[in-house]
Amino acid sequence: MPVLSGNVHMSMNFDTPQSTESGAPLVDSSPMAGGGNKPGSGVLLDVRHLVKYYPVLGGLFRVKVADVKAVDDVSFTIKRGETFGLVGESGCGKTTTGRTVLRLQPATSGEVFFEGQDILKLPLAAMKPLRRDMQIIFQDPYSSLNPRMPVGDIIGEGLRAQGMSNRKEREETAQFYLKKVGLRPEYVRRYPHEFSGGQRQRIGIARALSLRPKFVVCDEPVSALDVSIQSQVLNLLKDLQEEFGLTYLFIAHNLSVVEYISDRVGVMYLGKMVELSESRELYNNPKHPYSVSLLSAAPIPDPTLRKQRIILSGDVPSPLNPPSGCRFHTRCPLAQAICREVEPPLEDKTGTGHYAACHFSDRVAGYAVPR
Ligand code: SF4
Repeated sequence: MPVLSGNVHMSMNFDTPQSTESGAPLVDSSPMAGGGNKPGSGVLLDVRHLVKYYPVLGGLFRVKVADVKAVDDVSFTIKRGETFGLVGESGCGKTTTGRTVLRLQPATSGEVFFEGQDILKLPLAAMKPLRRDMQIIFQDPYSSLNPRMPVGDIIGEGLRAQGMSNRKEREETAQFYLKKVGLRPEYVRRYPHEFSGGQRQRIGIARALSLRPKFVVCDEPVSALDVSIQSQVLNLLKDLQEEFGLTYLFIAHNLSVVEYISDRVGVMYLGKMVELSESRELYNNPKHPYSVSLLSAAPIPDPTLRKQRIILSGDVPSPLNPPSGCRFHTRCPLAQAICREVEPPLEDKTGTGHYAACHFSDRVAGYAVPR
């Protein structure tokens, strides 16, 4: 049986992001004016007990025979001006969480409060003005841009849907945001195939920003890019966050990327949030064996440093039939009998907002060497 051991290091030598403060009241802000979401001005998004199941149909009459439990009772908050990182392996439910929060797909149950309003209960028509406030940057910069539309129209599409009927005005707005993301304004007349992957992702960012959103879901925005381009796009996202007062839900499987950009981080496993903490605290003092295994799998840029990798035992279980008790017990090197029977609650393990769902989180500390 593998044992959690070895140093836990991260690979990218970036500046450390500053944490935001909490507790201040909400502030008013105009989405078109921007800049309303200053750090420390309260909670912008409050996700409570979010559930997203996909029914599996079978039999002659195509009746529901089971559910794929993609997101199963996930709760978290995001403060204004903050970046909340959501990390985990493919299929853990992080992208489904992001899309369900935006109502790009219906939730099975739960609540999503945006500026104090439960948007899951709103009629779809009432979502239109909120679409301006809540935007998404997609993972794939190739498939997310319509190849038959010039860049100006791609960026202007959302503006037109939100009532900007003047074509010249839309083009000028597109030019403004192209400049903001480091591209030339004259590119409005070019087509997506004329750009590199990094430039396409910048166009996707310009499209999201053109509506002056308050909240942006960044769904693996750098995963499809070359490593050299990734840091440029990450720095651009940080600069734009500062300039426009944006709040990010940043979804990624690359822990180095998440650490660099996030103020707080949530770790998901098989549809559950298993750890949630301020970013530096989680990376230096993980409280869940799954987080430790993810951290130890990250490459170290220093060849003089050695670490023993944690090879998790067993396959990733199916979300169709997740394990009883702790869902991680089939792969966890610390698992005991209780883990197979009793699901561990997500609890504050330190009294400082470091949450973990593990019966034996106190035993995890010895395995993670501070970086
Ligand atoms: Fe491992 Fe048990 Fe903790 Fe789950 S509850 S992570 S199986 S030690």
